[in-house]
Amino acid sequence: MKIGVVGAAGRMGRMLLAAVDAADGVEIAGGVEASGHPDLGKDLGELAELGTMGIALTSDAGAMFEDVDAVIDFTVPVVTEANAKLAANSGTVLVIGTTGMTEDQQHNVDQAASRTAIVQAANYSVGVNMLLGLVEQAARILPEIYDIEILDMHHHHKIDAPSGTALALGHAAAKGRNVNLEDVADKVRDGIIGPRKQGDIGFATLRGGDVAGEHTVMYAGPGERIEITHKASSREVFAIGAVRAALWATGQKPGLYSMKDVLGL
Ligand code: NAD
Repeated sequence: MKIGVVGAAGRMGRMLLAAVDAADGVEIAGGVEASGHPDLGKDLGELAELGTMGIALTSDAGAMFEDVDAVIDFTVPVVTEANAKLAANSGTVLVIGTTGMTEDQQHNVDQAASRTAIVQAANYSVGVNMLLGLVEQAARILPEIYDIEILDMHHHHKIDAPSGTALALGHAAAKGRNVNLEDVADKVRDGIIGPRKQGDIGFATLRGGDVAGEHTVMYAGPGERIEITHKASSREVFAIGAVRAALWATGQKPGLYSMKDVLGL
């Protein structure tokens, strides 16, 4: 199975090249970057420190989509939105890791998924996807007096906040409580904001250093506090999960799938 990587020179892109190279049944068939990127023309293998592969990094996403079976995209929302269209036109499987999509951008991804199989997940680690189930279950069992707070910490390059994973955990908690996250999310606190509203789901964001991704969901109740934490110590877990998703999605009917579908959870 031939796989192409968009954003191949990025932090996740390089990790994805290595994960594809290491996995059975898949091979790297292309890599693209933004036009003007300083690494254009470089060998993909050398980019990912895997030795020479004989495939150069290009900026021609359209040509790559025509040439491969699946594309993995961990870039920025505007690029992913455009690539969803390319995937639909070429019938290529698309695995999306990009977070921070606007409602309009997400709508266009949903539309593209009516024409090809797309897997989209805010987090491709097995651990976080298991956590989503635990968070939902805890929110269902614990009464509303247990305040739910979600904390994420990431490296200082991250551009969106709260993280896509924090929001996914928030959606899981809201589902457990049978409410819409949009109605109860409290994402910004500054100044004299008054007491916390019971039933809200609060978010806090920390950014710094080279942290690959850490999330804690707290249920702070009277006399006790439960915390569920996940810490990714390497981006490799996300890359391995994304390759697994690409293999799984090949042969699936058009549709928008999640990592829960891939893992059969
Ligand atoms: P990064 O900035 O290191 O990489 C993004 C890459 O996209 C850059 O190399 C950039 O040049 C490239 N790019 C920009 N415009 C492009 C274009 N037009 N065509 C091709 N490439 C283009 O960022 P990162 O840390 O690798 O993260 C990328 C995204 O993946 C973020 O949204 C992040 O939140 C998300 N992410 C998701 C998961 C997950 O498991 N779902 C895990 C980690 C990161």
